[in-house]
Amino acid sequence: MNETKPKKIAILGSTGSIGCSTLSVIRHNPTLFKAYVLVGGKNVSKMLEQCVEFKPKYVAMADIAAAKILQQSVNALNLDIEILSGERAICDLVQIPEVDYVMAAIVGAAGLRSTLAAIEKGKRILLANKEALVTCGHLFMRAVKHYQAQLLPVDSEHNAIYQCLPASIQHQLGFASLAQFGINKIVLTGSGGPFRDRDIATLKQVTPQQATAHPNWSMGPKISVDSATMMNKGLEYIEARWLFNASQHEMEIIIHPQSIIHSMVRYYDGSVVAQLGNPDMCTPIAYAMSYPERIYSGVPSLDFMKLSQLTFKEPDFNRYPCLKLAIEASLSGQAATTTLNAANEIAVAAFLAEKIGFVDIAATVAQVLNQLTFTEPQSIDEVFMIDDWARKLCSEIIKNKY
Ligand code: NAD
Ligand code: MG
Repeated sequence: MNETKPKKIAILGSTGSIGCSTLSVIRHNPTLFKAYVLVGGKNVSKMLEQCVEFKPKYVAMADIAAAKILQQSVNALNLDIEILSGERAICDLVQIPEVDYVMAAIVGAAGLRSTLAAIEKGKRILLANKEALVTCGHLFMRAVKHYQAQLLPVDSEHNAIYQCLPASIQHQLGFASLAQFGINKIVLTGSGGPFRDRDIATLKQVTPQQATAHPNWSMGPKISVDSATMMNKGLEYIEARWLFNASQHEMEIIIHPQSIIHSMVRYYDGSVVAQLGNPDMCTPIAYAMSYPERIYSGVPSLDFMKLSQLTFKEPDFNRYPCLKLAIEASLSGQAATTTLNAANEIAVAAFLAEKIGFVDIAATVAQVLNQLTFTEPQSIDEVFMIDDWARKLCSEIIKNKY
C-alpha cells in the first residue's frame, strides 16, 4: 500500500472474536493501520489488555459500570486514553472526522445504530455485523448510497463473493444487475456445522458445549450455535440478497464440509469463480481493510497437498429447519427478517443458558413468526419496535412452554 499515514480504524466489538482478529491484522501491519477507537460491551479485562497494547485514542464501553472500572485501571497505568460509555457515545465516536474505517463487529441488533451512524458520515464500513442487513437491509443500502459510504463485506462468504465479482459491481454494490454482468447465481457455501452427519432423531439431546464446538471456524458463541442450526446460512442468505442485489432465483446454498471454498459466483458462460483459503477470519478482514490492495493477514497459504478432498451436498431442511425459516422470511420482507433475527437471538441465548433444547430454537422462532402482523418498517425506529415485540413474545413463549 502506498499511503504513508496509517488509516485510523474504529473497531466496534473489539473484545469479541472478529474484533480480536482485526487487531491481529493491525498487529501485522502497524505502519498501515492504527486502532484509534475501541468499543466493547462489558469485558473490562480484555479491553484493558487491548488498551495497553494498542494505545487507542478513545475507548467506549456499552456498559457504564464497566467503563468506570476500566477508567480506574487506565488511570493507574497512566495511559492517555479517553474513556466513554453508552450507545450515544459509541455513535459519536464512529462519526469523528479522524476515523477512516469502521469495523462493525458488535454482535446482534445492538450494532445497528452505530453502524448506521458510521454510514451517515460516509466512512468505509467493514461490515461483520450481518444483523444490520438482515433487519434493515433496505434502509442500510439506501443510506450507503445516499451518504456515499463504502461497504466492504467481512462475513467470509460475502467477502469471498465480493472477491469473485467484477470491479464494476464492487463499485455499485447492492445496486448493479447481476444478469447484466453475466452472472447466473451467487453460491453460498456452508460447512453444515457440527451436526451435519448426526442422526436427526438425536438432535434433541445436544448440549450448548457440543453446539458451540464448530469443526472449522473459531467464533463467538451465538454465531457458533447459528452455524449448527444453519440459521447462520439463512441470515447470510438474507445478507447476500441485499449486498449483491440478488433475487431468490439468483441464490444457491451448498454444504461444503471442509470450509475451504468460502463461496462462489456462477457466470452465464459456464465459469464458476471461487475464493479459497484456510478458514480464518483474518483473511477477509485484511482484504476489507486493504482493498483494493492486498496485505499480509497472518494466515498461512493453502497447502493443496494436505487437502484430502473437497465435498459438496444439498442442505436438508428437515435437519436445518432454521434455514428454511430464514429463506421464507427473506421472501416475506424486513418485518419478517427482523422478527426472525430477534426471536433467534432470544432462543439461542435460552439454549446457551440450557433453558430450551437445540430443536426448540427453530420451533420457537417459527411460533413467533406465525404471530407477525406488522407491515414493512419504514425507519430504524420501526425496526426496533418489531425487534422489541419479537424478543418479548419469544421470551414469553419460552417462559410458558419450557
Ligand atoms: P463476539 O460475541 O465474539 O463479540 C461481540 C463483541 O460485541 C464483543 O466485543 C462485545 O463486547 C461487543 N458487544 C456486545 N454487545 C454490545 C453492545 N451493546 N455495545 C457495544 N459492544 C457490544 O461476536 P463475534 O463472533 O465477534 O461476531 C461479531 C459480529 O460479526 C456478529 O454480527 C457476527 O454475526 C459477525 N460475524 C462473525 C464471524 C466470526 O467468525 N466470529 C464471522 C462472520 C460474521
Ligand atoms: Mg459467514
